Amino acid sequence: MGSQEVSTVDWQGKHVTVAGLGVSGIPAARALHERGAIVTVVNDGDDERARAQAAELEALGITVRLGDGATLPPSTELVVTAPGWQPDKPLFLAAAEAGVDIWGDVELAWRLRGTNGREAAPWLAVTGTNGKTTTVRMLASILEAAGLRTAAVGNIGVSLLDAVLGEQEYDVLAVELSSYQLHWAPSLRAHSAAVLNLAPDHLDWHGSMEAYAADKGRVYEGNTVACVYNAADPATEELVREADVEEGCRAIGFTLGTPGPSQLGVVDGILVDRAFVANRQKQAQELAEVSDVNPPAPHNIANALAAAALARAFGVEPAAVRDGLRAFRPDAHRIEHVADIGEVAYVDDSKATNTHATEASLAAYDSIVWIAGGLAKGATFDELVTGAAKRLRGVVLMGADRALIREALTRHAPEVPVVDLDRTDTGAMSEAVEHAARLARPGDTVLLAPACASMDMFTNYNKRGEAFADAVRAHAEESA
Ligand code: ADP
Repeated sequence: MGSQEVSTVDWQGKHVTVAGLGVSGIPAARALHERGAIVTVVNDGDDERARAQAAELEALGITVRLGDGATLPPSTELVVTAPGWQPDKPLFLAAAEAGVDIWGDVELAWRLRGTNGREAAPWLAVTGTNGKTTTVRMLASILEAAGLRTAAVGNIGVSLLDAVLGEQEYDVLAVELSSYQLHWAPSLRAHSAAVLNLAPDHLDWHGSMEAYAADKGRVYEGNTVACVYNAADPATEELVREADVEEGCRAIGFTLGTPGPSQLGVVDGILVDRAFVANRQKQAQELAEVSDVNPPAPHNIANALAAAALARAFGVEPAAVRDGLRAFRPDAHRIEHVADIGEVAYVDDSKATNTHATEASLAAYDSIVWIAGGLAKGATFDELVTGAAKRLRGVVLMGADRALIREALTRHAPEVPVVDLDRTDTGAMSEAVEHAARLARPGDTVLLAPACASMDMFTNYNKRGEAFADAVRAHAEESA
């Protein structure tokens, strides 16, 4: 069977255990039940919300077992799991021992595509440690500009199962995949895929960097047209080499420098394609200007090149790449410009929750007052601080693990003034902004790029970013 063809599973009477009542578990249970499977949902929690959800499923004839997500129901022929469940859970170990397959939400969507009487749209897939959401949205914007029916789906917050089984017909899907989702997606075969970058993240879940990389690398398995890699990150190219792809599938690199043959890159402020042209030894095709990328920070230009490569692999014309990039608007809290106050720019990159993302945003400005800190998740900060030291006007630290960043600053940037706020309450952000404003000089950027998770002080990174923006606006009023 060709890799893009739809596989058919006879669900009638098949005993399926769905692990986890949640955003992916409930639709999975319903879809499988509708197809004749005998579904049991198992869930660790047994609170009021879970009981209400269970009651709805039970009314349809689905069995739900609350308060025990560990034991495998004996008749199980297939387990369908929520992506976040830790792979060493007893349920999965029991399934592996019994020779029962385990699918995640992505695998299920992949297997059910085309089973509702609609054409199965090809997938253009994006993974990587950072930049996935941005790249997938850029890609969807380019595909739309090309007049294609498309959507940005997957880890981005739009269920793949809904996209695959919903009313809407698509020509192609722009799919964001997390390493968790890829771990549980053994038969996924994308039309083309990109791994944007690879830095240590979620290692507690995957067990090791090798296991994390191997799960990311699955995105290339069975690609038919292009495996897109980051020429500046050899680990991504290595994953392409290791992948088993369809005959004729090409490795396509993206680079912020001049592209070689079979690469996309940048020449004199122009994004150019030396991969999808008639003669790649001699020819290059202009796609867009760097200034068409919003914002034109180096890592974001890399994201734009990756999105362009996937779109070009799908046959999109150069003009649509330009139009799509121009139409793209970044999501909130990702290097979001909040205000200019007295020739100082205030930028919210609250989504920079790890050092790799923060490294990219610190590289985008010449002179920075950096606001950082939160939950470090086991990270170290020496490399980050060493790389940014000469661009730091000052630093304001807050949050539970701020001492780790302060120590790195003492070691590698002892001359940079540091304000260490001994606070982890939500109100600390206003004080942080006041201190940052005092440290900043005209032409500087005050950058919230915490390099840490937010949960010690805020509900999530959105709330952290909003607190920053509120504090900046309050400061603007005071200075008016
Ligand atoms: P993801 O979906 O992978 O979390 P986002 O697009 O939401 O990625 O961006 C997450 C964070 O990573 C943001 O703080 C952003 O500034 C940073 N970032 C975006 N693209 C890249 C990249 N190519 N390399 C490094 N950091 C990046």
